[in-house]
Order: sequence, then structure tokens, then C-alpha cells
Amino acid sequence: MFDDIITTIRQVYGKETGIIPLHIPTMGDAEKRAVSNVIDSGFVSSVGPEVEEFEKRIASYCGAKHAVAVSNGTSALHIALILAGVEPGDLVIVPSLSFIATANAVTYCGAEPVFLDVDVATLGMDSKAVRRFLESETERSDRGPIHRSTQKRIAACVPMHTFGFPTDIRNLIEVCEDHGIPVVEDAAESLGSLVGKQQTGTFGITGVLSFNGNKIITGGNGGAILTDDSELARKAKHLTTTAKIPHAYEYAHDEVGYNYRLPNLNAAFLLAQMDRLDGFLKDKRAIAEEYQSRLTNYRIFKERKGTTANYWLSVLISDDRRHREAILLATHKAGILTRPAWQPLHSLPMYRDALRDDLTQTTYLAERIVNLPGTPRV
Ligand SMILES: *Cc1c(COP(=O)(O)O)cnc(C)c1O
Repeated sequence: MFDDIITTIRQVYGKETGIIPLHIPTMGDAEKRAVSNVIDSGFVSSVGPEVEEFEKRIASYCGAKHAVAVSNGTSALHIALILAGVEPGDLVIVPSLSFIATANAVTYCGAEPVFLDVDVATLGMDSKAVRRFLESETERSDRGPIHRSTQKRIAACVPMHTFGFPTDIRNLIEVCEDHGIPVVEDAAESLGSLVGKQQTGTFGITGVLSFNGNKIITGGNGGAILTDDSELARKAKHLTTTAKIPHAYEYAHDEVGYNYRLPNLNAAFLLAQMDRLDGFLKDKRAIAEEYQSRLTNYRIFKERKGTTANYWLSVLISDDRRHREAILLATHKAGILTRPAWQPLHSLPMYRDALRDDLTQTTYLAERIVNLPGTPRV
């Protein structure tokens, strides 16, 4: 069963036997040299020139005025939400079809997620669902929309570009602007994805990237906050570096900050990965195109018109839960490490009681998605 999928993936990777992982880091001599150089320099930890160089490089790549490098994508989300003004007791709109970090970052702020539906056409947050929710369940106030039945404020909205496919970000921003809600973009999976000619992660007041080991480029760990607002960038740097007041020898801090900085060692590694990014993107697109042209018996999700996906992970949309399970089983049995989408966040024990809409499309997709291997071959 599903020999067509297995054969296609094996041929795409030119590997007749053995394990084919979902997505692993691609690294080599350049990364070894980079790490070796910082070891020789002595600057492996919280200070060093590579952090700043990486911030400049990633900001320029994304077309953002500023990038603040941090320890990982989750800490980037946490700080981005604080800077958006999220306070204890607030509500934050997030998709349920996402990695756990999107909701957990809300909880770290003492706020609660509201799970709104995604759109089967984008895999990301549905702007119509957001508008419907805001118009029917909230009323305006000068602090932002107030959710009528709980009297809690909606403090932010966090759309996510699922598996690197750009979501309907322009309409989402428009709806949120209409209601006075700041948008923080979770672009953890979408480095290199575009809407028109603009990089995802640069539409909201801030955008968040992740450099975890399975992401498009990695620093072993790492993340970044993108913004065009120099005051937000300054605050992000301050909060993620323990809110220390710069001084030659005095140790003083002017608020409760976080130790979320990116070590210089990881920044050096990331600089080497940046050199490969365009090559990764090109090959990931080639892999996705092979899946699309060969797996014609299946629905393979494609980038929407007017957008460019980074094809972090290709998406096969199976017929139903049984079909999905059978594909996962058959491919894993053959050593091909496909993966279902995340269990929808509203179904997890800690978010079972969270506010939500009907989540029809979320459930539809969560039961059907199979991610295909996407490690670049270069
Ligand atoms: C990977 C990921 C994150 C978090 O990134 P880490 O660097 O692993 O903390 C956040 N959101 C989404 C959607 C992700 O895929």
C-alpha cells in the first residue's frame, strides 16, 4: 500500500534503503569553521560580535529594519507578546492548528488563548473567522475589544504561516487594525516565504523566527524578533538581556527582564547557515515540485497565487483520518518518517477549556494532513 508515495520519496532522495528523516539540519565544514573560530576568539557565550552581525544579516534578508536575536522561537514569541502589550487576564487570538509554543507564549504572559479557525485554502488563520468573532462576541473600548461574556480584553492576534505557506496576512492585519488589535506574526516556519515580494514576519508590529534544529536554518537553537519599530527593537533587546543597564562594571537592572539572549556560538553557526539559505530554498522548492508532479493521486498542498512558500514541509491532504493513519503507518514501516499535523491545541489537557469558535476547518485539516520529508539535498 502507498508504494507510490514510498517510491517517490525514495527517488527524490536517491536513497533505496535506510531511514529518510522528516527534516534534519544540513551542515558541514562552514559551520565547523565558524564554531571553531568563535572558540578561538573566546566569545562563545552572551557577548561577541557574531550576534550583532547575525542580527544585521537576518534583518536585511527579511527586509526588516531591526532583528533581535534570542534563545529560541518560543522566547521570541513570549517577548513579542509582552511588547504588544499583553497583560495578565487578557485574551490573545491564536490558531489551534499550530505548534504548542504559539499558545504557551500567551500563557507565559498570564493571558489566555482564544482558538479561532484556520482556512483550508491557506492552512493559516481565517480572517473571516477573526472578523466574525470580533464582530459578534466583542464590544469596542479604548483599551481594545472586550470579549462580552468574560469581560476580558483581546490584546493581540498571532497568525502563523503553517509549514511555510503564507497565511492571509494582509486581510488579517486589516481586520485587526479595524478593531485596534496588534498583530504578532508567528513566522517560525516561514523564513523565506513571501506575500507578493514581502517576507512573512514583516507584516505585523513584530514577527518571530525560529532556528530550532528542524527549521529552515538552524543555530542548534535560536530565534529572532523582527520589527520596523526602533523603540520596540530597543525594548526587545533590553528585556531579553536581563534588563541590564549597560555599564563597564556595575550590575544593575531596571525591570524584571529575561535571560533569553542568543549565545555567540549559535550566532556564528547561524551566519554559516545564512550563506546556504538560498540554496536550501531552491532545493526545497524542487523537492516540493517533484512531489506535486508525481503524486497526482493525492492532494498535495500548493502555494497560493501571489505568494511564495519556502516549502519547509510539503503537505499531503489525505481523504480522512483512516487514510491518514494508513499512510503514516506504511511510510514509517518503510523507514520514511512522515508526520501528522500537531494535535490541535484546544484538544490538549491544558487548553481544553480555552475559548474557541467551531474550529471546523482546523479539525478537518488536523485529521488529514501528512507532512512529507523536506530536508534539502544540498
Ligand atoms: C518551531 C516553532 C516555534 C518555536 O520555536 P522554538 O525555537 O522551537 O522555540 C513557534 N511556533 C511555531 C509555529 C513553530 O513551528
